[in-house]
Amino acid sequence: MKDPTMQAIPFNKPFMTGRELWYIAQAHTNGHLSGDGQFTKKCHAWLERTTGARRALLTHSCTAALEMAALLADLQPGDEVIMPSYTFVSTANAFVMRGAVPVFVDIRPDTLNLDETRIEAAITPRTKVILPVHYAGVACEMDTIMEIAGRHGLFVIEDAAQGIMSTYKGRPLGTIGHMGAYSFHETKNIIAGEGGALLVNDPALADRAEIIREKGTNRSQFFRGQVDKYTWVDIGSSYLPGEVIAAFLWAQMEEADNITARRLALWDNYHAALAPLEAAGKLRRPVLPDGCQHNAHMYYILLESLEHRSRVIGNLKRQGVSAVFHYVPLHSAPYGVKHSRHHGGMEQTDQLSDRLLRLPLWVGLEEEQQRVLRALNEAL
Ligand SMILES: *Cc1c(COP(=O)(O)O)cnc(C)c1O
Repeated sequence: MKDPTMQAIPFNKPFMTGRELWYIAQAHTNGHLSGDGQFTKKCHAWLERTTGARRALLTHSCTAALEMAALLADLQPGDEVIMPSYTFVSTANAFVMRGAVPVFVDIRPDTLNLDETRIEAAITPRTKVILPVHYAGVACEMDTIMEIAGRHGLFVIEDAAQGIMSTYKGRPLGTIGHMGAYSFHETKNIIAGEGGALLVNDPALADRAEIIREKGTNRSQFFRGQVDKYTWVDIGSSYLPGEVIAAFLWAQMEEADNITARRLALWDNYHAALAPLEAAGKLRRPVLPDGCQHNAHMYYILLESLEHRSRVIGNLKRQGVSAVFHYVPLHSAPYGVKHSRHHGGMEQTDQLSDRLLRLPLWVGLEEEQQRVLRALNEAL
Protein backbone atom coordinates (compact mmCIF):
# COMPACT_ATOMS: atom_id res chain seq x y z
CA MET A 1 0.00 0.00 0.00
CA LYS A 2 1.17 3.47 -0.77
CA ASP A 3 1.61 5.55 2.35
CA PRO A 4 0.94 9.19 1.39
CA THR A 5 3.26 10.45 4.14
CA MET A 6 6.18 8.55 2.64
CA GLN A 7 8.46 10.41 0.24
CA ALA A 8 9.01 8.76 -3.12
CA ILE A 9 12.54 7.46 -3.66
CA PRO A 10 13.93 8.98 -6.86
CA PHE A 11 15.95 6.94 -9.32
CA ASN A 12 18.86 9.38 -9.16
CA LYS A 13 19.79 12.28 -6.93
CA PRO A 14 22.94 14.25 -7.75
CA PHE A 15 25.39 14.20 -4.84
CA MET A 16 27.03 17.49 -3.85
CA THR A 17 30.21 17.40 -1.81
CA GLY A 18 29.54 20.79 -0.20
CA ARG A 19 32.53 22.58 -1.74
CA GLU A 20 31.14 23.22 -5.22
CA LEU A 21 29.85 26.74 -4.50
CA TRP A 22 33.03 27.66 -2.66
CA TYR A 23 35.16 26.80 -5.69
CA ILE A 24 32.72 28.51 -8.05
CA ALA A 25 33.05 31.63 -5.88
CA GLN A 26 36.83 31.36 -6.25
CA ALA A 27 36.51 31.14 -10.03
CA HIS A 28 34.32 34.22 -9.85
CA THR A 29 36.91 36.05 -7.76
CA ASN A 30 39.74 34.94 -10.06
CA GLY A 31 37.88 36.64 -12.88
CA HIS A 32 38.84 33.93 -15.36
CA LEU A 33 35.55 32.44 -16.56
CA SER A 34 36.38 31.03 -19.98
CA GLY A 35 38.05 27.62 -20.33
CA ASP A 36 41.49 26.36 -19.33
CA GLY A 37 41.88 28.47 -16.18
CA GLN A 38 43.13 27.34 -12.80
CA PHE A 39 40.31 24.86 -12.07
CA THR A 40 40.49 23.24 -15.49
CA LYS A 41 44.24 22.77 -14.94
CA LYS A 42 43.58 21.15 -11.55
CA CYS A 43 41.07 18.79 -13.16
CA HIS A 44 43.48 17.91 -15.98
CA ALA A 45 46.28 17.20 -13.50
CA TRP A 46 43.95 15.06 -11.35
CA LEU A 47 42.81 13.03 -14.35
CA GLU A 48 46.35 12.53 -15.61
CA ARG A 49 47.59 11.58 -12.12
CA THR A 50 44.78 9.17 -11.24
CA THR A 51 44.48 7.49 -14.64
CA GLY A 52 48.00 7.77 -16.04
CA ALA A 53 46.57 9.07 -19.33
CA ARG A 54 49.13 10.82 -21.50
CA ARG A 55 46.85 13.86 -21.89
CA ALA A 56 43.46 14.57 -20.32
CA LEU A 57 41.28 17.35 -21.72
CA LEU A 58 38.02 18.52 -20.19
CA THR A 59 35.13 18.86 -22.61
CA HIS A 60 31.58 20.11 -22.20
CA SER A 61 30.24 16.53 -22.42
CA CYS A 62 31.25 12.96 -23.13
CA THR A 63 29.43 13.41 -26.44
CA ALA A 64 31.89 16.22 -27.26
CA ALA A 65 34.84 14.02 -26.25
CA LEU A 66 33.58 11.29 -28.61
CA GLU A 67 33.18 13.87 -31.40
CA MET A 68 36.80 14.92 -30.83
CA ALA A 69 37.86 11.27 -30.97
CA ALA A 70 36.05 10.87 -34.29
CA LEU A 71 37.92 13.90 -35.66
CA LEU A 72 41.26 12.60 -34.34
CA ALA A 73 40.67 9.20 -35.93
CA ASP A 74 40.22 11.08 -39.21
CA LEU A 75 37.03 9.26 -40.12
CA GLN A 76 35.91 9.69 -43.70
CA PRO A 77 32.39 9.21 -45.07
CA GLY A 78 31.70 5.47 -45.41
CA ASP A 79 34.29 4.42 -42.82
CA GLU A 80 32.97 1.85 -40.37
CA VAL A 81 32.98 1.80 -36.58
CA ILE A 82 32.29 -1.46 -34.74
CA MET A 83 30.26 -0.87 -31.58
CA PRO A 84 27.47 -2.32 -29.45
CA SER A 85 23.86 -1.41 -30.22
CA TYR A 86 22.99 -1.54 -26.53
CA THR A 87 24.36 1.92 -25.65
CA PHE A 88 23.56 5.62 -25.47
CA VAL A 89 22.93 7.40 -28.77
CA SER A 90 26.10 9.53 -28.57
CA THR A 91 28.31 6.46 -28.97
CA ALA A 92 27.04 6.25 -32.54
CA ASN A 93 26.12 9.85 -33.34
CA ALA A 94 29.59 11.29 -32.70
CA PHE A 95 30.82 9.11 -35.57
CA VAL A 96 27.73 9.36 -37.77
CA MET A 97 28.35 13.14 -37.77
CA ARG A 98 31.60 12.43 -39.68
CA GLY A 99 29.70 10.32 -42.22
CA ALA A 100 30.88 7.08 -40.65
CA VAL A 101 28.64 4.00 -40.47
CA PRO A 102 28.04 2.23 -37.16
CA VAL A 103 28.38 -1.53 -37.49
CA PHE A 104 26.69 -3.10 -34.50
CA VAL A 105 27.64 -6.46 -33.08
CA ASP A 106 25.85 -8.30 -30.30
CA ILE A 107 26.68 -8.08 -26.59
CA ARG A 108 27.80 -10.68 -24.07
CA PRO A 109 24.98 -12.09 -21.94
CA ASP A 110 27.03 -11.80 -18.72
CA THR A 111 28.25 -8.16 -18.76
CA LEU A 112 26.11 -6.73 -21.60
CA ASN A 113 29.37 -5.46 -23.10
CA LEU A 114 30.48 -5.78 -26.74
CA ASP A 115 31.01 -9.50 -27.43
CA GLU A 116 34.70 -9.61 -28.31
CA THR A 117 34.33 -12.99 -30.02
CA ARG A 118 32.08 -11.43 -32.68
CA ILE A 119 34.22 -8.41 -33.55
CA GLU A 120 36.65 -9.89 -36.01
CA ALA A 121 33.96 -11.26 -38.35
CA ALA A 122 32.51 -7.73 -38.64
CA ILE A 123 35.77 -6.16 -39.88
CA THR A 124 35.80 -5.01 -43.53
CA PRO A 125 38.32 -2.94 -45.55
CA ARG A 126 36.34 0.15 -44.45
CA THR A 127 36.61 -0.55 -40.70
CA LYS A 128 38.60 2.16 -38.90
CA VAL A 129 37.61 1.97 -35.23
CA ILE A 130 36.51 -0.52 -32.57
CA LEU A 131 34.43 1.25 -29.96
CA PRO A 132 33.95 -0.71 -26.72
CA VAL A 133 31.45 0.72 -24.22
CA HIS A 134 32.14 -0.20 -20.60
CA TYR A 135 28.55 -0.75 -19.54
CA ALA A 136 27.78 -0.01 -15.90
CA GLY A 137 31.47 0.75 -15.35
CA VAL A 138 32.42 -2.92 -15.87
CA ALA A 139 35.26 -3.36 -18.34
CA CYS A 140 35.02 -4.95 -21.76
CA GLU A 141 37.51 -7.75 -22.53
CA MET A 142 40.18 -5.23 -23.52
CA ASP A 143 43.17 -7.57 -24.06
CA THR A 144 41.30 -9.37 -26.83
CA ILE A 145 39.96 -6.12 -28.31
CA MET A 146 43.42 -4.50 -28.37
CA GLU A 147 44.92 -7.62 -29.93
CA ILE A 148 42.32 -7.67 -32.74
CA ALA A 149 42.73 -3.93 -33.34
CA GLY A 150 46.52 -4.24 -33.45
CA ARG A 151 46.37 -7.04 -36.01
CA HIS A 152 44.03 -5.05 -38.28
CA GLY A 153 45.54 -1.60 -37.72
CA LEU A 154 42.39 -0.13 -36.14
CA PHE A 155 41.88 2.59 -33.57
CA VAL A 156 40.30 1.65 -30.25
CA ILE A 157 38.21 4.41 -28.70
CA GLU A 158 36.75 3.54 -25.29
CA ASP A 159 33.35 4.95 -24.41
CA ALA A 160 34.13 5.07 -20.69
CA ALA A 161 31.27 7.50 -19.98
CA GLN A 162 30.24 5.27 -17.07
CA GLY A 163 33.73 4.07 -16.23
CA ILE A 164 35.61 6.65 -14.15
CA MET A 165 37.45 4.98 -11.22
CA SER A 166 36.97 1.49 -12.73
CA THR A 167 39.87 -0.69 -13.83
CA TYR A 168 40.61 -3.64 -16.10
CA LYS A 169 43.49 -5.79 -14.80
CA GLY A 170 44.57 -2.78 -12.78
CA ARG A 171 44.42 -0.29 -15.66
CA PRO A 172 41.92 2.59 -15.48
CA LEU A 173 39.15 2.43 -18.08
CA GLY A 174 39.65 5.01 -20.79
CA THR A 175 43.44 4.57 -20.78
CA ILE A 176 43.73 1.24 -22.60
CA GLY A 177 42.65 2.21 -26.13
CA HIS A 178 44.14 5.04 -28.22
CA MET A 179 41.56 7.38 -26.69
CA GLY A 180 38.89 7.21 -24.02
CA ALA A 181 35.91 9.40 -23.11
CA TYR A 182 34.44 10.13 -19.65
CA SER A 183 31.12 11.77 -18.79
CA PHE A 184 30.44 14.10 -15.87
CA HIS A 185 26.71 14.33 -16.59
CA GLU A 186 24.65 14.55 -13.40
CA THR A 187 23.55 10.92 -13.75
CA LYS A 188 27.15 9.66 -13.60
CA ASN A 189 29.39 9.06 -10.54
CA ILE A 190 31.49 12.24 -10.64
CA ILE A 191 29.44 15.14 -11.92
CA ALA A 192 29.52 18.70 -13.24
CA GLY A 193 25.93 18.95 -14.48
CA GLU A 194 27.08 18.57 -18.06
CA GLY A 195 30.73 17.76 -18.66
CA GLY A 196 33.20 15.23 -19.97
CA ALA A 197 36.83 14.51 -20.71
CA LEU A 198 38.87 13.04 -23.52
CA LEU A 199 41.82 10.90 -22.48
CA VAL A 200 44.46 10.82 -25.18
CA ASN A 201 46.73 7.83 -24.68
CA ASP A 202 48.46 7.76 -28.05
CA PRO A 203 51.14 10.51 -27.82
CA ALA A 204 50.93 11.06 -31.59
CA LEU A 205 47.39 12.42 -31.15
CA ALA A 206 47.96 14.74 -28.18
CA ASP A 207 48.93 17.96 -29.98
CA ARG A 208 46.13 17.69 -32.52
CA ALA A 209 43.63 16.99 -29.72
CA GLU A 210 44.44 20.36 -28.14
CA ILE A 211 44.04 22.10 -31.50
CA ILE A 212 40.70 20.47 -32.33
CA ARG A 213 39.38 21.40 -28.88
CA GLU A 214 40.43 25.05 -29.33
CA LYS A 215 38.48 25.76 -32.54
CA GLY A 216 41.25 24.49 -34.80
CA THR A 217 43.84 26.94 -33.45
CA ASN A 218 47.23 26.48 -31.82
CA ARG A 219 46.16 28.59 -28.84
CA SER A 220 47.44 26.09 -26.25
CA GLN A 221 50.90 25.95 -27.84
CA PHE A 222 50.93 29.74 -28.06
CA PHE A 223 50.22 30.09 -24.32
CA ARG A 224 53.02 27.64 -23.56
CA GLY A 225 55.35 29.79 -25.68
CA GLN A 226 55.93 26.97 -28.19
CA VAL A 227 54.81 29.07 -31.18
CA ASP A 228 54.92 32.84 -31.61
CA LYS A 229 51.57 33.23 -33.38
CA TYR A 230 48.09 32.08 -32.43
CA THR A 231 46.31 31.12 -35.62
CA TRP A 232 43.99 28.79 -37.55
CA VAL A 233 45.84 25.54 -38.27
CA ASP A 234 43.22 22.75 -38.54
CA ILE A 235 39.51 21.93 -38.35
CA GLY A 236 38.01 21.98 -34.87
CA SER A 237 35.30 23.35 -32.67
CA SER A 238 34.82 24.74 -29.17
CA TYR A 239 34.85 21.70 -26.93
CA LEU A 240 36.10 23.14 -23.65
CA PRO A 241 33.92 23.95 -20.64
CA GLY A 242 34.11 27.26 -18.82
CA GLU A 243 35.75 27.63 -15.41
CA VAL A 244 32.47 27.61 -13.46
CA ILE A 245 31.90 24.01 -14.60
CA ALA A 246 35.52 23.07 -13.90
CA ALA A 247 35.28 24.59 -10.40
CA PHE A 248 32.21 22.47 -9.64
CA LEU A 249 33.93 19.40 -11.04
CA TRP A 250 37.05 19.99 -8.96
CA ALA A 251 34.98 19.73 -5.77
CA GLN A 252 33.76 16.34 -7.01
CA MET A 253 37.20 15.08 -8.02
CA GLU A 254 38.52 15.83 -4.53
CA GLU A 255 35.86 13.43 -3.19
CA ALA A 256 36.10 10.81 -5.94
CA ASP A 257 37.46 8.06 -3.66
CA ASN A 258 34.81 8.70 -1.06
CA ILE A 259 31.97 8.85 -3.61
CA THR A 260 33.13 5.60 -5.19
CA ALA A 261 33.44 3.85 -1.82
CA ARG A 262 29.92 4.89 -0.80
CA ARG A 263 28.46 3.76 -4.11
CA LEU A 264 30.27 0.42 -3.86
CA ALA A 265 28.82 -0.14 -0.38
CA LEU A 266 25.30 0.46 -1.72
CA TRP A 267 25.98 -1.83 -4.68
CA ASP A 268 27.29 -4.58 -2.38
CA ASN A 269 24.18 -4.28 -0.20
CA TYR A 270 21.92 -4.81 -3.20
CA HIS A 271 24.04 -7.68 -4.41
CA ALA A 272 23.99 -9.52 -1.09
CA ALA A 273 20.31 -8.86 -0.43
CA LEU A 274 19.25 -10.09 -3.89
CA ALA A 275 21.25 -13.33 -3.84
CA PRO A 276 18.31 -15.36 -2.45
CA LEU A 277 15.98 -14.00 -5.15
CA GLU A 278 18.49 -15.01 -7.80
CA ALA A 279 18.78 -18.46 -6.22
CA ALA A 280 14.98 -18.71 -6.32
CA GLY A 281 15.06 -17.95 -10.06
CA LYS A 282 13.22 -14.62 -9.72
CA LEU A 283 15.91 -12.40 -11.24
CA ARG A 284 19.49 -12.35 -12.44
CA ARG A 285 22.12 -10.15 -10.78
CA PRO A 286 25.04 -8.36 -12.54
CA VAL A 287 28.18 -10.40 -13.28
CA LEU A 288 31.68 -9.08 -12.59
CA PRO A 289 34.38 -10.93 -14.56
CA ASP A 290 37.78 -11.53 -12.92
CA GLY A 291 40.12 -8.61 -13.30
CA CYS A 292 37.32 -6.03 -13.56
CA GLN A 293 37.17 -3.66 -10.61
CA HIS A 294 33.99 -1.65 -11.12
CA ASN A 295 32.87 1.73 -9.77
CA ALA A 296 29.26 0.90 -8.80
CA HIS A 297 27.92 3.17 -11.51
CA MET A 298 24.75 1.10 -11.76
CA TYR A 299 22.82 -1.69 -10.09
CA TYR A 300 20.57 -3.51 -12.50
CA ILE A 301 18.60 -6.72 -12.41
CA LEU A 302 17.40 -8.89 -15.29
CA LEU A 303 13.80 -10.03 -15.16
CA GLU A 304 11.97 -12.72 -17.10
CA SER A 305 10.41 -10.67 -19.89
CA LEU A 306 9.29 -7.24 -21.02
CA GLU A 307 5.81 -7.85 -19.56
CA HIS A 308 7.22 -8.91 -16.23
CA ARG A 309 9.45 -5.82 -16.15
CA SER A 310 6.51 -3.50 -16.86
CA ARG A 311 4.56 -5.07 -14.00
CA VAL A 312 7.50 -4.73 -11.60
CA ILE A 313 8.06 -1.07 -12.56
CA GLY A 314 4.38 -0.31 -11.98
CA ASN A 315 4.37 -2.15 -8.69
CA LEU A 316 7.49 -0.33 -7.46
CA LYS A 317 6.01 2.98 -8.52
CA ARG A 318 2.90 2.34 -6.43
CA GLN A 319 5.22 1.80 -3.47
CA GLY A 320 7.03 5.09 -4.15
CA VAL A 321 10.19 3.64 -5.73
CA SER A 322 11.36 4.86 -9.10
CA ALA A 323 13.16 2.20 -11.15
CA VAL A 324 13.92 2.68 -14.84
CA PHE A 325 15.15 0.86 -17.92
CA HIS A 326 17.15 2.25 -20.80
CA TYR A 327 18.40 1.96 -24.34
CA VAL A 328 16.15 1.16 -27.20
CA PRO A 329 18.89 -0.75 -29.08
CA LEU A 330 20.34 1.63 -31.66
CA HIS A 331 19.95 -0.85 -34.55
CA SER A 332 16.19 -0.80 -34.03
CA ALA A 333 15.83 2.95 -33.33
CA PRO A 334 14.28 5.00 -36.19
CA TYR A 335 17.56 6.62 -37.28
CA GLY A 336 19.59 3.46 -36.74
CA VAL A 337 17.34 1.44 -39.03
CA LYS A 338 18.23 3.80 -41.89
CA HIS A 339 21.83 4.74 -41.18
CA SER A 340 23.59 1.77 -39.63
CA ARG A 341 23.94 -1.94 -40.09
CA HIS A 342 24.63 -4.86 -37.86
CA HIS A 343 26.77 -7.90 -38.28
CA GLY A 344 25.42 -11.24 -37.11
CA GLY A 345 22.44 -11.84 -34.89
CA MET A 346 21.41 -9.34 -32.24
CA GLU A 347 19.53 -11.79 -30.00
CA GLN A 348 21.27 -10.89 -26.74
CA THR A 349 20.82 -7.16 -27.37
CA ASP A 350 17.14 -7.53 -28.23
CA GLN A 351 16.38 -9.81 -25.30
CA LEU A 352 18.43 -8.23 -22.55
CA SER A 353 17.31 -4.68 -23.33
CA ASP A 354 13.71 -5.83 -22.74
CA ARG A 355 14.53 -7.46 -19.41
CA LEU A 356 16.87 -4.99 -17.71
CA LEU A 357 15.72 -2.85 -14.80
CA ARG A 358 17.90 -0.30 -12.97
CA LEU A 359 17.42 0.27 -9.26
CA PRO A 360 18.00 3.63 -7.50
CA LEU A 361 21.69 4.08 -6.64
CA TRP A 362 22.95 7.41 -5.37
CA VAL A 363 25.08 8.65 -2.50
CA GLY A 364 22.61 9.31 0.31
CA LEU A 365 20.35 6.36 -0.50
CA GLU A 366 21.81 4.52 2.51
CA GLU A 367 18.84 5.35 4.77
CA GLU A 368 16.25 4.25 2.23
CA GLN A 369 17.86 1.28 0.60
CA GLN A 370 16.00 -1.21 2.80
CA ARG A 371 12.74 0.34 1.62
CA VAL A 372 13.76 -0.22 -2.00
CA LEU A 373 14.55 -3.84 -1.23
CA ARG A 374 11.29 -4.41 0.62
CA ALA A 375 9.36 -2.87 -2.26
CA LEU A 376 11.22 -5.05 -4.76
CA ASN A 377 10.51 -8.21 -2.77
CA GLU A 378 6.88 -7.24 -2.73
CA ALA A 379 6.88 -6.38 -6.45
CA LEU A 380 8.35 -9.72 -7.40
C1 LIG B 1 26.17 9.21 -20.46
C2 LIG B 1 26.73 8.50 -21.64
C3 LIG B 1 27.20 9.19 -22.77
C4 LIG B 1 27.01 10.67 -22.98
O1 LIG B 1 27.56 11.46 -21.99
P1 LIG B 1 27.26 13.04 -22.01
O2 LIG B 1 28.29 13.56 -21.04
O3 LIG B 1 25.87 13.22 -21.54
O4 LIG B 1 27.48 13.53 -23.38
C5 LIG B 1 27.79 8.46 -23.79
N1 LIG B 1 27.92 7.13 -23.72
C6 LIG B 1 27.46 6.42 -22.66
C7 LIG B 1 27.64 4.94 -22.62
C8 LIG B 1 26.85 7.08 -21.59
O5 LIG B 1 26.39 6.38 -20.55
